[in-house]
Amino acid sequence: MKWEDNVRKVVPYVPGEQPRKENMIKLNTNECPYPPAPGVVSALKEMDSSAFRLYPAPGADSLIDALSEYYHVDKDQIFVGVGSDDVLAMSFLTFFNSEKPILFPDVTYSFYDVWADLFKIPYKVCELDQDWHIRPDDYKQGNGGVIFPNPNAPTGLYEDLETVEEIIKANQDVIVIVDEAYIDFGGESALALIEKYDNLLVVQTFSKSRSMAGMRIGFAFGSKKLIKYLNDAKFSFNSYTMNMPSLVLGVESVKDREYFEKTVQKIITTRERVKIQLTELGFTFPDSKANFIFASHREIPAKEIFEALKEADIYVRYWNKPRINNSLRISVGTDEEMDKLIAFLTQYIEKRK
Ligand code: PMP
Repeated sequence: MKWEDNVRKVVPYVPGEQPRKENMIKLNTNECPYPPAPGVVSALKEMDSSAFRLYPAPGADSLIDALSEYYHVDKDQIFVGVGSDDVLAMSFLTFFNSEKPILFPDVTYSFYDVWADLFKIPYKVCELDQDWHIRPDDYKQGNGGVIFPNPNAPTGLYEDLETVEEIIKANQDVIVIVDEAYIDFGGESALALIEKYDNLLVVQTFSKSRSMAGMRIGFAFGSKKLIKYLNDAKFSFNSYTMNMPSLVLGVESVKDREYFEKTVQKIITTRERVKIQLTELGFTFPDSKANFIFASHREIPAKEIFEALKEADIYVRYWNKPRINNSLRISVGTDEEMDKLIAFLTQYIEKRK
C-alpha cells in the first residue's frame, strides 16, 4: 500500500500486563500495594461531577502550588504531566534535538529507546558495569543529551549524588534528565542540584510512592528556562493534559506528608526483610533502593520461575532480552503478599531439588 510509505512506524513499548483476577498477587508493575492518602479517598467521594462540564485549569495551578510548597521550589520551576511517561515523552521531544546521539544505560527503562525511535532521536547505550552500576566516564563523550533513572530500573540500584553530579558536570552543554520514579524508597533526590545546573531536569511520579498509578500524575523540576520550554511544547501539543480529578486528588496526596512517609517506610521495611529471605532461598540481586528487587536464582532459570509463579496467579515481570533474561523483577507488595510469594518459592525450590 503506497500510503504506508508515509506512516510513522514504531515498535511500541510493552507495559506489564494488568490482569484483573480475584486473589491474584500482582508484583509486576511496581505499583504501591497500599491505598492513597485518606484525604484522596474522601475528596474522591465528595467530588462534584457537574464540574466535569468545564475544562480543567490548563496550567494545573493547584497541583503546582501544592508541589511548590511541599518541595520548596518556585512554581515556575515545576512542570506536571499525565504520569512521568508523559513528562518524559514531552522532555524527549523538547530537549533532544541534536544530530549527536543521546546517551542512556544499556539496561534501563525500556521506554527510552521507544521515544527516541518515535521522535527520530539518535541514541547510544552505555554498558553498565558487571555489578550493574553506571560508569560515569561513559557519559563524558560527545552527545545530544543524557537520561538515566536513579535508582535505575529494572536493577533497583541507586547511584550516589556525587556520581549523578559528576555526570551533570561533564554535560553542561546538553540537557541531563534524571528519572527519579523510585527515589522516595531510599535514595537522595538530585532536586537541590537544579539551582546549580540550569540544564538539569529531575522527573518524579505519583505512581509508585504515592499509590496513584491510576490517576496518571508525573512532575519535573528544573530551571525556569527549562520549564518554560517544556510548557511551550506542551501547549503546542495538548493544553489540557491534566484532568480535573487528577488535579484535585493529586493536591490531597501532597498535603499528607505523614501518610506518605509512613507508607514509604512500610515498603522499605518489607523490601529489606524480603531481601534476606530471597538470599536464603538462593537468589542473588543488586541491592535495591526501589520498590522492587531484580532477582536471579543460582540454579533455576528465571523464565521457569516466572511461569510457575504465573500459574499460581503471582505476577512478576520477566523480559526475554539479552543480559536480563535470567532475572525477575519483583515489586514489593504488602507483607502478606510477600509471605505468600516466599512460601510459594520455598515449596517450589524444595520440590525441584
Ligand atoms: N520511569 C521509570 C524508570 C519507570 O519505571 C516508570 C514506570 N513504568 C516510569 C518512569 C513511568 O511511570 P508513570 O508514567 O506511571 O509515572
